[in-house]
This record gives sequence, C-alpha cells and structure tokens, in this order.
Amino acid sequence: PPDVETLGRSTWTLLHTIAATYPATAPPEKQAEVKTFMNIFSRIYPCWVCAEDFQHWIERPENRLVPGQEGGHLGGRASFGQWMCRAHNEVNRKLGKNEFDCRRYEERWRTGWAD
Ligand code: FAD
Repeated sequence: PPDVETLGRSTWTLLHTIAATYPATAPPEKQAEVKTFMNIFSRIYPCWVCAEDFQHWIERPENRLVPGQEGGHLGGRASFGQWMCRAHNEVNRKLGKNEFDCRRYEERWRTGWAD
C-alpha cells in the first residue's frame, strides 16, 4: 500500500476537488449522497489511525453533516468547502503543520492562484 503521506496528499486532492465542484446550492439528494460518502470514507480510509481520528471529528456536533439543514455544511459549495478546509486543518494541527487560510480555499482548489 502507498505510504501515509502519499495517500494523504492524493486523498486531500480528491476530497477538496469534490468540495470545489459541489453545486453552489445543493439539492437534498446531493446532500444526502455526500453525507453517505463522507461517512463511509471515514470508515474505510486505509490509514486506520487517520480514519479513527477523522470519524471522531466528523461526529462532533459542530462538524456533523446533516442533509437538508438550513445553513448546514452541505447546503452548497462555499459551506462544504469551509467544512473540508477545517477538517484538513484539524489534521494539519495534529501533525504540527501550518494551518491553511480557508479564505483562500476557492483560489487553491477551484479558480486557481491569481499569479
Ligand atoms: P497535505 O496535508 O497532504 O496537503 C496537500 C495540499 O493541500 C497542501 O500542499 C496545500 O496546498 C493544501 N492544503 C493544506 N491544508 C489545507 C486545508 N486546510 N484546506 C485546503 N487545502 C489545504 N497523516 C498522519 O500522519 N496522521 C494522521 O492521522 C492523518 N490523518 C489524515 C486524515 C485524512 C482524512 C487524510 C485525507 C489524510 C490524513 N493524513 C494523516 C495525511 C496528512 O494529512 C497529509 O496528507 C500528509 O502528511 C502529507 O502532507 P503534505 O504536507 O504533503 O500536504
């Protein structure tokens, strides 16, 4: 299997790309799909310590993905992107890496850097 770092970089690319291409306003079926995906992902991610910590993060009341909730994390691209950014920053903190400035999320993952 790939090492934890290579797997992590590729996986964050996939997860942030999913968030960056999520609809600006997501219909309830899409929200339910992504919730299911993230919950299953957090159980099958093949770095077991990573998966376990991520599951705990996802289960905190403020991070929980609730489809159809007014103002919820799954409502649209902007809120889901910020949720994903916070999820990644949680791991950055744990590993002693710099936190990413989530105001630059779209620039990094959707529209491309200005320069
Ligand atoms: P990465 O952290 O992989 O980031 C890749 C790129 O994403 C960065 O260069 C930056 O441009 C961008 N980026 C950074 N932070 C953010 C952010 N907050 N929002 C948006 N973009 C950002 N590794 C462990 O050793 N232990 C763990 O417990 C662990 N848990 C993980 C849990 C999950 C769900 C995932 C997907 C990975 C986990 N990893 C874990 C791997 C770890 O997060 C890194 O992927 C790995 O250490 C490689 O780091 P990196 O410095 O190359 O950049």
